[in-house]
Amino acid sequence: MINFNVPPFVETAMDYIQECVKNQKICGDGAYTKKCNAWIEERTGTRKALLTTSCTHATELAALLCDIKPGDEVIMPSFTFVSTADAFVLRGATPVFVDIRPDTMNIDENKIEAAITEKTKAIVPVHYAGVACEMDKIMEIAKKYNLYVIEDAAQGVMASYKGKALGTIGNFGAFSFHETKNYSMGEGGALLIRDEKDIEDAEILREKGTNRSKFFRGQIDKYTWVNHGSSYLPSDMNAAYLYSQLEIADKINEDRKASWNRYYENLSGLKEAGKIELPTVPEGCEHNAHMFYIKAKDLEERTALIAHLKANDILAVFHYIPLHTAPAGLKFGRFNGADEYTTKESERLARLPMYYGLKPEQVDYICDKVKEFYGA
Ligand SMILES: *Cc1c(COP(=O)(O)O)cnc(C)c1O
Repeated sequence: MINFNVPPFVETAMDYIQECVKNQKICGDGAYTKKCNAWIEERTGTRKALLTTSCTHATELAALLCDIKPGDEVIMPSFTFVSTADAFVLRGATPVFVDIRPDTMNIDENKIEAAITEKTKAIVPVHYAGVACEMDKIMEIAKKYNLYVIEDAAQGVMASYKGKALGTIGNFGAFSFHETKNYSMGEGGALLIRDEKDIEDAEILREKGTNRSKFFRGQIDKYTWVNHGSSYLPSDMNAAYLYSQLEIADKINEDRKASWNRYYENLSGLKEAGKIELPTVPEGCEHNAHMFYIKAKDLEERTALIAHLKANDILAVFHYIPLHTAPAGLKFGRFNGADEYTTKESERLARLPMYYGLKPEQVDYICDKVKEFYGA
């Protein structure tokens, strides 16, 4: 059986976790959390990175930092994970869904402006499959209307747009280190902060509304409750697990990209024959092989393809049910303009197995079975 995902694991994780346990230092913001934060800052160039308990929580922190309130509107794609919307719905805001581009499955930057009202507070681009949204255009719109930009870069660690790391372009970026992502700590994420002025507020919100981070740095002699907040710190054991992968992030990235490129080359005949579509990576986007998907003709063909692969011990899966069609999406949000591509394209998409350590022969076998399905 070829699984769809196998969570990344690196041997050194055992030593690092053991070290945490031996030193009896397993709470938040320990040595490994600091190493992970420093790694993210160095590799992405963001001003500040704070490890969190999830990408969902990092997005919640961003919503708090943007002071999102009941009645506010937040623009995002409908083709995304629930957390993108939930973080803002929790603050009483309305998610306003905008159609995607069929080539990248990312929010259509040319349909954003029509969705802006006097209530709009933020735009949340989601970098699907680690392929960047058209950030120049999005930042230009945000500037024109004075909106926050919060990048859902859950899938975008080690990916970039015109040389800038995903998650560092908007006011805030959110990474995920869930076990389905390229780098994992089981459950976890990070908030990336672009501007110096937001750092202290973020630290306070993340530390239960206290100025404890300042206290630990010796900047004040006792800490106290200074604002509302919550607890978004992961255990240092989880950070230790993650750090073992960050240390060899390039190796993991290259391994995934080799699988991605092998899929692409192997299946390009089917694409040329007009049987399937393959992912598009626009100029200036450096992706991270988070995902390899293909597009079938329609829902019926996709269902049959997934069944054919399953019968051959290959676990391929579809992805998001558009949020605007889900019960909570109907209740909390609205779709602006026509759903030209969101539903149609989401019904055609099938994700093939992709993980660190997937073998070339496995990729070839999967491609053979896809070709067999299409009679090629
Ligand atoms: C995985 C994912 C999330 C949620 O990440 P968690 O770390 O599980 O909270 C949010 N948005 C997108 C686009 C994701 O892929």
